[in-house]
Amino acid sequence: MAQKDFYEILGIQRTASAEEIKAAYRKLALKYHPDRNPNNKEAEENFKAVSQAYEVLSDTTKRKQYDQFGHAGADMGNGQGFGGFGGFGQGADINMENIFDMFGDIFGGGQQKKRKKSGPTPKRGHDLAKEVTLSFEESFKGVTKEITYYHFVACSTCEGKGTEKGTSVHVCKECDGTGQTTFRQGMFAYSQQCSHCHGLGYTIPSPCKTCKGQSRIQKYDTISVNIPAGIYDGAELRLAGKGDAGIFGGEYGDLFLKISVTPHKQFKRVDDDLESAITLTYPQLVFGCQMDIEMLDGLKETIKVPRGCPVGERIVIAGKGFSKVRGKGRGNLVITTQCDIPKKLPTDVQEKLEEYSELIGTKTNGAQGSITAFFKKFLR
Ligand SMILES: [Zn+2]
Ligand SMILES: [Zn+2]
Repeated sequence: MAQKDFYEILGIQRTASAEEIKAAYRKLALKYHPDRNPNNKEAEENFKAVSQAYEVLSDTTKRKQYDQFGHAGADMGNGQGFGGFGGFGQGADINMENIFDMFGDIFGGGQQKKRKKSGPTPKRGHDLAKEVTLSFEESFKGVTKEITYYHFVACSTCEGKGTEKGTSVHVCKECDGTGQTTFRQGMFAYSQQCSHCHGLGYTIPSPCKTCKGQSRIQKYDTISVNIPAGIYDGAELRLAGKGDAGIFGGEYGDLFLKISVTPHKQFKRVDDDLESAITLTYPQLVFGCQMDIEMLDGLKETIKVPRGCPVGERIVIAGKGFSKVRGKGRGNLVITTQCDIPKKLPTDVQEKLEEYSELIGTKTNGAQGSITAFFKKFLR
């Protein structure tokens, strides 16, 4: 991707003085600062671009390199290039050194590359996950849940800077902000993590007392979340920016709610359909009937059982199922018919049923009731 011109980014002339550069940077950095533009990607990008442009143009050497070589030159300026060939550079003029640096970068002399830092790099906070259990009814109707969780929030005392009021971050003097120190032995140069700043490239001489210089603190938060009707077991809800705060002004991560729904005794969910069963007597199935069932929202739904309804029939009531989380409308209510088979009957009913059985010419065990009784009779 082509990089925008640093002068253009800061909105200044190529002949701008150091003061003009500083003034332009201050104005733009304030305007695009992440603290002032939370969750604004564009502002964040602008802030980065402005900082990068300032980093180069505020440094006389880097600015010279940038003017001469463009973006490639500015990048080189950050790396030390062929550190090991220090002897080579002796006597060479400054441009020659720049060219070595450039080759160092192009040929992957990257292990020697050091980025100077003027302070901590803001980093995005972690995404968090939290399990939320809903009753079957809640998943059907939707619910507002209070979610309490432990996470990092930006320190309000120092506004995410990590420094005591009126103090600032210092570039590490030992490593000049690179986070690494180099020593030479013969023709080789070795780098190791700077022990003074632990590789950070900066130190915080007076850390904020609230966050101990960490720029954020951990605490419990409670948020109210509207969980939509029709949410299903295993669904994941993303709450943007509700995760951990980033470090040093970095963007917040997200909070993911993992939904689990407890099963119901009477109802079950199949896709967006709400399924249940009703138990009917034989005459109800034969003659047909109307039955009221209590729905999950407490309302009554009338089920019309047709005449001559078989057992296992699926009676569909359109649009009375779960709300569709994706798309519009609702699934169906599906009621399956079952037959109530009594174990015992009052004597008069028993007689009538035997009569009926004889009338339609079916064989039964009759009044003896059980198979055992049948066999007893047979064995006598
Ligand atoms: Zn703080
Ligand atoms: Zn250091």
